[in-house]
Amino acid sequence: MTASHPLGPLEVVAEANRCLYCHDAPCSRACPAAVDVPTFIRKIGTDNLLGAARVILEANVMGGTCARVCPTEVLCEGACVLKNERLRPVAIGRLQRYATDWAKERGKNPLLQSAAAPSGRLPVAAAKTAAAQTTAAKTAGGAASGRVAVVGAGPAGLACAAELARLGHGVTIYEATSQAGGLPGQAIPPFRLPGEVPAWEASLVRELGVEFKGGVQVGKDISYSDLLTRYDAVFLGVGRGGVPGLGIPGEELDGVYEALTFLRATRATRSTRATRSTRADPLPDLGGRVVAVIGGGNTAIDAATSAARLGAERVMVLYRRTEAEMPAYASEYRFALDEGVEFQWLTAPVKILGDGRVRAVRCVHMARGEPDASGRPRPKPVPGSEHELAVDVIINATGQGPRADFFAGTDLKLEGGRLKVNEDLQTANPRVFAAGDCLGTPDATVVQAVGQGKRAAAGIHLHLGGDDGASGDGGERTGVTNG
Ligand SMILES: Cc1cc2nc3c(=O)[nH]c(=O)nc-3n(C[C@H](O)[C@H](O)[C@H](O)COP(=O)(O)OP(=O)(O)OC[C@H]3O[C@@H](n4cnc5c(N)ncnc54)[C@H](O)[C@@H]3O)c2cc1C
Ligand code: SF4
Repeated sequence: MTASHPLGPLEVVAEANRCLYCHDAPCSRACPAAVDVPTFIRKIGTDNLLGAARVILEANVMGGTCARVCPTEVLCEGACVLKNERLRPVAIGRLQRYATDWAKERGKNPLLQSAAAPSGRLPVAAAKTAAAQTTAAKTAGGAASGRVAVVGAGPAGLACAAELARLGHGVTIYEATSQAGGLPGQAIPPFRLPGEVPAWEASLVRELGVEFKGGVQVGKDISYSDLLTRYDAVFLGVGRGGVPGLGIPGEELDGVYEALTFLRATRATRSTRATRSTRADPLPDLGGRVVAVIGGGNTAIDAATSAARLGAERVMVLYRRTEAEMPAYASEYRFALDEGVEFQWLTAPVKILGDGRVRAVRCVHMARGEPDASGRPRPKPVPGSEHELAVDVIINATGQGPRADFFAGTDLKLEGGRLKVNEDLQTANPRVFAAGDCLGTPDATVVQAVGQGKRAAAGIHLHLGGDDGASGDGGERTGVTNG
């Protein structure tokens, strides 16, 4: 999850040779995108880097992104059998990064050079290249192919589009912003994920023959019902919405930011100390300022570490529970500590103080109460514990809300912020499938969105009369369902 260093060529060979090539590959089973880890590592070990990149990207078109941002310690590397021997697990993420970077730096599209069998284990004519197959299916009128609209070019949408294109369907992606890549390209800080990586992955998908319509917001520039009229099936990968307000007085003051807006602005200005915000940037000048970040998830950590790198004098994360209950990954937490971020546990803001601009935040101490619906102790305010912290900037990182506005314009309903789907990720409308963050399931990650996007593509393919194949190992159907 953190900004780990890339491996050098000699380290790569040594690391690849540590892999035991387990026949049951627990690492691959732990990967929501079902990347065939032992096979790609073996190819690295025999200096077949294009082959390694192909194995990775066929299973996970965001393989370069995931190599940098996957919580590998709880996924593939967490399942590595070397851990049972009390040894360091194989550095799967860094090996994956080496192979995908190799392809990116040489301008290769391993998906075009591969046989056309998609990673969803659905059989198609394996002799053709993916691009040739897509083109052939389209020009033939697509007897076995359909026309699919994909809404959202994030990890879920790109994975779904790549799978469908490789299965011979005609795919058009509608993306509200001008760039494909979703949150990884918009909000994950560049010191963890350079924007060129998701941009490259999106270009691989386009080269499969997928049409990309950027700057088109479905529900505003084109209606959802128009898509249903024009296409045989619709895939929704619209992600989550903005961070809801804190609901406390003083939120309107200058110096209060919503985390995603802040992170997007940070990305736009390449957040490093060396290239700090210019006057034209929408970013606050954080030099010498005291910043309080409210929240305990990965977004809070990204906002805090970005603020630290933008020159803030002091960055505090205020979290109403304790370290044990915070949703941020342990590696992210350690990274933030390394960056000098302070954590104030069992602390909740009740009022933001200032005269036009933020001057302080009034907080209350919390105690751990009875377990709530999540099983974690419910935080409850300690009477008489109010205190003030002098701060200049507040970043609200309390978690994204559902895209309620978008779904209000469809025939689909959110229940408790969640979208109901079946095993194939088909919604209540049988022609509409959905995956990724918009489902509202917990533990949202890029690789989970990719895995679900692939699963939805398999469901769409079946719905359009395609072959479901029998060679699958079920790997694509593991993971979260929301039925
Ligand atoms: C700050 C931050 C840090 C994160 N860090 C990590 C990490 O380290 N590791 C990790 O695995 N995950 C991380 N995540 C989570 C990860 O980014 C998401 O789980 C993942 O991007 C979800 O993919 P998605 O395709 O479902 O949605 P998104 O990535 O949100 O993509 C949705 C896309 O749909 C588009 N869209 C929305 N509405 C419309 C519309 N009406 N019409 C057309 N287009 C539309 C959006 O513009 C966007 O491009 C992080 C998230 C955040 C916010
Ligand atoms: S995609 Fe992520 S979880 Fe899967 S093998 Fe690669 S680094 Fe591990």
